[in-house]
Amino acid sequence: MSHSFYELTPEQVTAWFADRGHPPYRARQVMAGVYRRGVSDFAQMTDLPAALRAELAREFDLRPVTPDRVVQTSDTTKLLLSLPAGGQVECVRIAMDGAFTACVSSQIGCAVNCAFCATGHGGYERSLTPGEILAQVLAINRLGPGVRNVVFMGMGEPFHNYANVVSAVRRMVSPDLLALSPRRITVSTAGVVPAIHRYAEEGLATELAVSLNASTDEQRRQLMPGVARYPLAQLMEACQHFSAAHHGRPVTFAYVLIEGVNDTFDDAERLARLLKHQPHHLNLIPLNRVTHSALRAPAYPRLRAFLQACRRHKLNVSLRHSKGEDIEAACGQLRAERAGPAVSTNAKAARSQRSG
Ligand code: SAH
Ligand code: SF4
Repeated sequence: MSHSFYELTPEQVTAWFADRGHPPYRARQVMAGVYRRGVSDFAQMTDLPAALRAELAREFDLRPVTPDRVVQTSDTTKLLLSLPAGGQVECVRIAMDGAFTACVSSQIGCAVNCAFCATGHGGYERSLTPGEILAQVLAINRLGPGVRNVVFMGMGEPFHNYANVVSAVRRMVSPDLLALSPRRITVSTAGVVPAIHRYAEEGLATELAVSLNASTDEQRRQLMPGVARYPLAQLMEACQHFSAAHHGRPVTFAYVLIEGVNDTFDDAERLARLLKHQPHHLNLIPLNRVTHSALRAPAYPRLRAFLQACRRHKLNVSLRHSKGEDIEAACGQLRAERAGPAVSTNAKAARSQRSG
């Protein structure tokens, strides 16, 4: 059985060509065809000798992952992909500042089980391979040129799939594959502390986003049960480690505002204390309503008041307006719709992520 070309690292591709006596430039030619020109059939690589094309076709599966559903709104395109190895996954192309951001999933479902998230509500199925993560970017690239940023803000917790996510990031930045700038890639985690320490030392110059969503350990236990074993104090230490290892680079903190749960002036003050010694950007995100829960966003005056309280505390903060409610119901929803009624989004958070 032929294996998926998309699962190979650039080193493995290079070694395959070398083992068969092909010159190294052939390997680069094939990788550029697949990852930059989006060729999905070796037969189309007419710049290769016919014998080599046939040999590649015998050895490797180059079939692209094509979307089952495409949902287009004014500034987002959501794709629902069926993976050859089983399962469905979502990714989103988001228009931002004249370029596109690809919001990718790292798992099918998520085990963190956040109270406000449709993905978490759907339960955990499995982690994605590096090739399955790259396939999402390639599927988005096929919609048209201009994908410049990648955010890991789709389904799943990237640091519960650490090795595959790191491997996918390495391939995204590899000059032979997607050649993306690491600064334009953001890995978003719910706060898996040991993995943040490890990532700090990984030598990858990507951005890091942490979904904070709470100002006390008790709130975090309620909202994000799957990461509650890591107290906020330890989480902040890990973030400081990341910043210190990256020349003081700020960490982006997402704070989903939920009425009556985490939206008081005391919360703002506690946030200021948590972030005082941490290079940061704090993104306040009004909760997107999910149907399985009664949680909702505070009314606009309260959002403004919270924002202003954060500013008074000298936090580097922005409030993401929900202009374009059409973005609502992105990652998590398409798949959930098939399984039953559920509405949610992570794309709003992705959109609110500054793009590098
Ligand atoms: N598991 C990772 C990455 C995916 S979630 C993480 O949690 O960071 C991406 C973002 O979507 C997170 O910041 C999360 O807080 C946010 N999010 C999830 N559900 C949401 C909702 N209903 N409304 C607004 N933001 C939401
Ligand atoms: Fe998982 Fe992130 Fe959703 Fe929490 S917010 S359930 S960590 S995907």
